[in-house]
Amino acid sequence: MTVRVVVVGGGWAGTGAAVAAAQAGAEVILLERTDMLLGTGLVGGIMRNNGRFTATEEAIAMGLGDIFHVVDLCARHRNVDFPGHRHATLYDVCKIEPAIRNLLLKKGIQVHTQSRVKDVEMEGKTIRAVVLDSGEKIAGDAFVDTTGSAGPMGNCTKYGNGCAMCILRCATFGGRVSIAARAGVKEYAGRRADGAVGAMSGSCKLHKDSLAPEIVAQLNEKGVVVIPVPPHLRKGSDILAKKACQQYALAEFAENIILLDTGHAKLMAPTYPLSLLRQIPGFENARYEDPYAGGVGNSIRYLAISPRDNAMKVDGVENLFCAGEKAGPMVGHTEAIITGALAGHNAVRLALGLELLEIPPSLATGDYISYVNEQVRNNREGLAQKYTFSGSIYFRRMQEKGLYTTDVAAIRDRVEEAGMSNIFGRRLVPGSRAF
Ligand SMILES: Cc1cc2nc3c(=O)[nH]c(=O)nc-3n(C[C@H](O)[C@H](O)[C@H](O)COP(=O)(O)OP(=O)(O)OC[C@H]3O[C@@H](n4cnc5c(N)ncnc54)[C@H](O)[C@@H]3O)c2cc1C
Repeated sequence: MTVRVVVVGGGWAGTGAAVAAAQAGAEVILLERTDMLLGTGLVGGIMRNNGRFTATEEAIAMGLGDIFHVVDLCARHRNVDFPGHRHATLYDVCKIEPAIRNLLLKKGIQVHTQSRVKDVEMEGKTIRAVVLDSGEKIAGDAFVDTTGSAGPMGNCTKYGNGCAMCILRCATFGGRVSIAARAGVKEYAGRRADGAVGAMSGSCKLHKDSLAPEIVAQLNEKGVVVIPVPPHLRKGSDILAKKACQQYALAEFAENIILLDTGHAKLMAPTYPLSLLRQIPGFENARYEDPYAGGVGNSIRYLAISPRDNAMKVDGVENLFCAGEKAGPMVGHTEAIITGALAGHNAVRLALGLELLEIPPSLATGDYISYVNEQVRNNREGLAQKYTFSGSIYFRRMQEKGLYTTDVAAIRDRVEEAGMSNIFGRRLVPGSRAF
């Protein structure tokens, strides 16, 4: 018996979906519009900070260990503390993509880059195939939309400061196309605190060789550098309200330059005018590595979110699932991997006629998925929030509910008690080969 799952969008959510569907025994085709996997994950790198540690260990206990093992192998620093954040792992953004691509290939996933989906073929409320820019049709039993929520370029002009030339490279590969929207789903957008549409991405990358040697030495050794900014060179606290990453919307991030070593020097600010930055000692020759116009702006995200249930099925389409930023105002690689895995696993269940899986709320990962849904469906203010295990509103909830812990044995026990041990590692398709 064969089940074919087509995952559209090769970011961290698409990676989680493809791995879980393959581990469940499906034939998996992953379609990515650019020439590299991992989307915004190509310029991120922060893992395991605050509640993401707990979520990561839950995910490993649920059968996603291979993904996080690769992340750990690509780590430049472990157990890093920076303002408001503890025990972070920082992966090397220059090493992670080939490592993840190899993992997917080893799992038998058919990875197609430079394969942008432009449309869908429907039969009633069921998607039969997706259509690539080339006109080629890819049929499947179930589909996962992990196309993210950023771009195309016109949106960064409309809601931001113009195209900042970010890693998504819309000008070269064509903009994001939402599969759910092509299937007729009415999507919604996240909001900023002032009601404006979308949110500006929260960090830039500086070329390390453009910084003073003592800054680079400290970054390489400790993974983090905090440099106080003289008051006349601060950008003002209004910038904090614009950020997608509300977990970093703390005064320390306005009063200091905070750099993290992810291979590049990750500057924890959405944008910083080069003329101001270069007045700070050590930054006289600074230049941006990502986005190229980081001194002017950054990508705008959370522009196209699909209504979905807690099994990650998109409302109104029989065989479409979603995950990552497509599935709510959710921020983060860890968040994308876990929601992706649930979507990919359930795509296989749907194709086999099995009951769809929800992660129980006794686990942080399950509580997160249902809480975000509840907030955006029933609460207008919910759309102005961003949800992540690593800070802000959801990390507070995790702590209040006693869901945050770094005790790995206790996390494993909790997963076991919930009946979820290795759930994403179990084969569902009869006769399929094991990975
Ligand atoms: C600058 C920046 C820094 C960040 N830093 C961190 C960090 O340090 N730690 C952290 O946890 N989070 C970080 N984040 C947030 C995190 O990267 C995202 O929330 C998460 O990775 C989103 O994953 P995703 O797969 O949902 O979406 P995306 O990463 O946006 O991936 C979507 C993918 O779909 C592809 N795609 C779109 N349309 C189509 C189509 N029609 N056909 C085929 N492919 C398509 C895109 O090319 C892209 O590869 C950062 C985000 C940004 C922008």
